[in-house]
Parts: sequence; C-alpha cells; structure tokens
Amino acid sequence: MKSNSITFLLLLAGTMSLSGCANSSFTANQINNQVASMPSQSKTITTNKKIVIAHRGASGYLPEHSLASKAMAHAMNVDYIEQDVVMTKDNQLVVLHDPYLDRVTNVAQLFPHRSRQVFGSKRWLAIDFTLAEIKQLEMTEGFSIDPNTGKKVPNYANRFPLFKSSFKVPTLGEEIELIQGLNHSRNMNIGLYVEIKAPWFHLMEKKDISLAVLKVLKDYGYSKKSDKVFVQCFDPDETKRIHDKLLPKLDMDLQLVQLIAETSWGETMRMKDGKLVPYQYDWMKEVGAMEKIKKFADGIGPWVPMIIDNESSKDNIMLTGLVEQAHRNQLVVHPFTLRMEKSQIPHYAKDFEDLVTIVLYKANADGIFTDFPDHAIKSITNYHHQD
Ligand code: CA
Repeated sequence: MKSNSITFLLLLAGTMSLSGCANSSFTANQINNQVASMPSQSKTITTNKKIVIAHRGASGYLPEHSLASKAMAHAMNVDYIEQDVVMTKDNQLVVLHDPYLDRVTNVAQLFPHRSRQVFGSKRWLAIDFTLAEIKQLEMTEGFSIDPNTGKKVPNYANRFPLFKSSFKVPTLGEEIELIQGLNHSRNMNIGLYVEIKAPWFHLMEKKDISLAVLKVLKDYGYSKKSDKVFVQCFDPDETKRIHDKLLPKLDMDLQLVQLIAETSWGETMRMKDGKLVPYQYDWMKEVGAMEKIKKFADGIGPWVPMIIDNESSKDNIMLTGLVEQAHRNQLVVHPFTLRMEKSQIPHYAKDFEDLVTIVLYKANADGIFTDFPDHAIKSITNYHHQD
C-alpha cells in the first residue's frame, strides 16, 4: 500500500505562496499602531493590525525556505516568517514545502535510485532520507522537468536562478535559532508561522509530526498564546487534535490557524475502502462553519478567491462574506498567497499594491502571506500615507 499512501503527491501541486517589496524601516505592526493613534480623517482607518507574513521567507528573491530567504525577510521587518515542516526518516524536522525533495534539490542526481514510484512518476520523499543525507543536497528555487527536453525549468523565470550559490535544507531548530538570533541582534520580535505539512501522511508512516513540532516550539520558548507564533494546518482533524489533546498534554496553549483548501487540490487525504480520497472541504464554505472552527482555532487561512469573488471587476469588488463571518466569530483571517508576477495578479486588481489594498482594506483581512514582503509593507505604508 506504499504507493497508495502517496497518491496525494500527484495531487499536491504548487498551491501557495505570497509576495511583496519595500524599503520601509517600519514593521507593518508599527505602521498600524501609528495610524491607529492618529485622529481619524476622511478615510476609514482600521484599528486592526495588518500583519505581513513572509511566505517561505522572502521567497520572491531567494530560494524558498533557505535560511538566506529567512534572513532577508527579517531584514524587511515582516511580522512573521513562515516555516513549512516535514519529517525525515530519522524523525528530524526539516523546513520544506513538500513531503518530497525533488522540486527544490539535486536529490535525483545524488540519489538516483531512492525514489518511490507514484503512478508512473518518480518522487524522492523526505521521509525516505536521513537528515545527514538531506544535508548533502543542494537546494534551489522551485523547478519542474520539461517532459520533452528533460531539462529543469524554473517555476518563476525572474526569480533567483537555479542552482546558483549554495543553499541547504534547514532543520526547524536551525531556522528558529536564526530568527531568534536576529531578534536579539536587531532588538525585534519577529514571529514564527509554522505549518504542519500533511499530518495524515506522516501518521500513516507512523510519525507524529504535530507532537514533534510542538515539542520543538516548547523547547525554544514558545508555549503560550501570547508568544509570537501561529501554528497552521490544512487538516482540520489534526488542528482539532492539536487543540484538544496535544497542547493540553504538553501544558501549552498556542494560536492555531485552520488553513482552507479546495477539495480538488488533494491537500488532505483520507483512506476510504482501501483507497485514498480527498478530504471534503466544502463544509468550510457553508453558513455556520466559522462557529465550528472557532472551537479549535484562532484564525483561518483561506485562498484569496475564497474571500474575493472572482467575478469582481476593477470597479466592483465583490466579497464572499467569509472574512465577515470569521470576524463575527473572533477568528483572524490571513489569506494566501500574494505574488508580484503579472500572471499572479487577479484581473480585478491593477497591480500588486492594488491587490494588497483590496485584500487588507476592502476585504478586511487581518494579514497576508506574500513572497514579496517588502512590497507588501510598502503598499500598507502608502495606503496609510494617502490623503
Ligand atoms: Ca505553507
């Protein structure tokens, strides 16, 4: 059943990330605080703190999840830096967007015979490699293989070139130490935004990734809701287990975010009649869903089209009502993913800055995931400096 247990890998395509660029010396929080203290003028000013989350680091500029991209995001004064976490064969936690290594490393060259066959496709899974083996790999910008030429094609042509310089897959501990070290030397408190990837897959492989992640967070001093960390997960059963069982067991209480996928992404799978089938997310879009989610989470992470209707036009932005329903249930809303590339700007937005403004101030989201945090912070600053 090994091949069945990784059916989802075929369905997991690059689904999310965020972007932004700017030169502000303020963090988004500082800007919001400053603005909130100003007398209200003609424009409606929100008192909500709008947060900027560096999606996989400053991934618009440096390979996603490299320590370099995290240091760059820190220097951009973001509010939070994101970590996606998967587990290795020897139960180490590494920061990697996918359960497989072949999209962002040279694993296929170094370990040509260590893939699993997944419906005709070869995949090299992190869970099949020890940390020592993974540390031998060079990490790069995300790429795919052209089926005709066999050549590597970058996912985003204008981003950091493939296999330039040298980057390694970091452990969760190494990344937390980098961020805490920079928090010390820069006298800041930039937070972690940790995603537990595919817990259902790890549990099938007899690995309790959520428990391991929480233990690491506790070891590094994150144990209370007031500590600057969000833990996010696409699997609602797992978010609920973290809330109801794991956090109390570890004497912890952290802010939890329920991510919302489209069922068709195959982000979360369930075994049914001996076959893996996608978990059905539809209930999360129904009336009353937020009342259910607030019982085990503090916020939601929707895809932007889940909060802004795709039928919107430049003159008529139509909201789905999800943000309002979440706010009515005291849930914060952090949508993904805002990117600068032209192909990533929805038709109803003029440009990236307009998109940031629409998501944060028209749709009233509380924060954004972005690959370009500097541009996102600059857009927020510009919005507050208008008039
Ligand atoms: Ca993520």
